[in-house]
Amino acid sequence: MEEYHVIVVGGGHAALSAALSARRAGRRVLVLERAPQHMRGGNSRHTRNVRCAHDRADPYLTGEYGEDEFLEDLRKVGGGQVNVDLARFAISESRTLPPWMTEHGATWQRALSGTLSLGRTNRFFLGGGKALLNAYYDTCRRLGVEVRYEAGVEDIVVEGRRAEAVVLRRGGSRELVRGKAVVVAAGGFEANLGWLKRYWGAAADNFVVRGTPYNDGTVLAALLEKGAAQVGDPKGFHAIAVDARAPKYDGGIATRLDSIPFGIVVNQAGARFSDEGEDLWPKRYASWGARVAAQPGQIAYSIFDAKAIGCFLPPLYKPFQADSIAALAALLQIDPGALVSTVDAYNRATAGNTAFRADALDGLCTRGLGLPKSNWARPIDRPPFCASPLRPGVTFTYMGVGVDETARLVDRHGRPFANLYAAGEIMSGNILASGYLAGFGMTIGGVFGRLAGREAATHAAH
Ligand SMILES: Cc1cc2nc3c(=O)[nH]c(=O)nc-3n(C[C@H](O)[C@H](O)[C@H](O)COP(=O)(O)OP(=O)(O)OC[C@H]3O[C@@H](n4cnc5c(N)ncnc54)[C@H](O)[C@@H]3O)c2cc1C
Repeated sequence: MEEYHVIVVGGGHAALSAALSARRAGRRVLVLERAPQHMRGGNSRHTRNVRCAHDRADPYLTGEYGEDEFLEDLRKVGGGQVNVDLARFAISESRTLPPWMTEHGATWQRALSGTLSLGRTNRFFLGGGKALLNAYYDTCRRLGVEVRYEAGVEDIVVEGRRAEAVVLRRGGSRELVRGKAVVVAAGGFEANLGWLKRYWGAAADNFVVRGTPYNDGTVLAALLEKGAAQVGDPKGFHAIAVDARAPKYDGGIATRLDSIPFGIVVNQAGARFSDEGEDLWPKRYASWGARVAAQPGQIAYSIFDAKAIGCFLPPLYKPFQADSIAALAALLQIDPGALVSTVDAYNRATAGNTAFRADALDGLCTRGLGLPKSNWARPIDRPPFCASPLRPGVTFTYMGVGVDETARLVDRHGRPFANLYAAGEIMSGNILASGYLAGFGMTIGGVFGRLAGREAATHAAH
């Protein structure tokens, strides 16, 4: 049986940050990535940016973003029980992430404006997460980190809170690999619809998984079964509305739909169910996954007219189009009478609304509707009438394993495991038990990946 100093389970941002950090400390490092080489990099390869604290504008960020403001932003979105010390640590360490990432191959996109309005707080990777991960894999190769692909870890042999070996399946055979320390960075369980069904019932069959099919929570389940502390809301996930025609797995960012604030959203019965104009889109888009998940059949339709085209990012899939609302309803297999009556009522409630502004809360609200639309409420009256079908698109899950301030796994009584560390999505519930702050997933992966790699390397030296 081979022996490594540090074994890293997973092949995304958190895993490679750990591997690079352990390797820089002089250790013999093995990365076990379940995906084949062309699918490597987990959900990290779909990302575009990382949130980091900084004191001033630079070519990549449009202004200052201090640690206090960062923490305040986190407080506003977060819920549940979080470890505030770990959150503060993540935020303070985020300052040093960009230079560290640059040193290991990251290149950056100059600040641009766009629908997500993140130019001040988040740095964007040039070429997106895929380019970042490719650069990291290249750096791993140059520094001598060993990477095995199609190496799915099935279990970790733990005796007395010490990881003795990692059990992996490659092809048809099972292997044991030994390491002095193990870092788990195998993501959440968002790709495991069977597991999601425990909390969501049959509705989970209609969910779309935006990221890698490999994050099925096998390692998370094994660790929980071995007594690791459980953190984060088990039912909770980050989910947005994606086009219902998106692939079941791995559609990435391109399947998102941004038309919602510029029209109405109806369910299969042709009825509205939520305020489409509640707030600026960057603050609200992540709430639509759960809203659609709560509708019959987990399907909804974003309905808009010719006036809205050009107000949002063009969708990947062509919307259904018709010259009348009744004809559009027929295409969507919604009762035409029901949809016509919903649109008529909405149009009456928006009569006279003209001072429309796409880029700000314009205050154009409906009047007299039981369910209001608070902004951007213009009548849907100019053909062609369009509809995009929506499904809940799951980005990641919140439940994970508890860690201490050195990224060491802890058990249900708070006692640390001797040589077992966790980084990234699998432990993000320590800091974000629910809610989300754009770009913070990559911050957590980078900060705790580096920390876990460093700590595992120190442990392995003894
Ligand atoms: C479409 C999309 C866009 C996103 N955009 C952003 C963004 O711009 N900024 C941001 O901060 N966050 C973003 N996120 C969230 C972000 O992807 C995650 O927070 C982050 O990538 C988590 O990193 P990770 O390394 O923990 O997990 P991952 O990158 O998902 O890596 C997990 C790895 O573990 C491997 N693995 C799984 N099971 C096993 C096993 N049993 N054995 C061995 N290996 C295994 C997987 O193959 C994968 O390589 C986005 C997510 C999606 C889906």
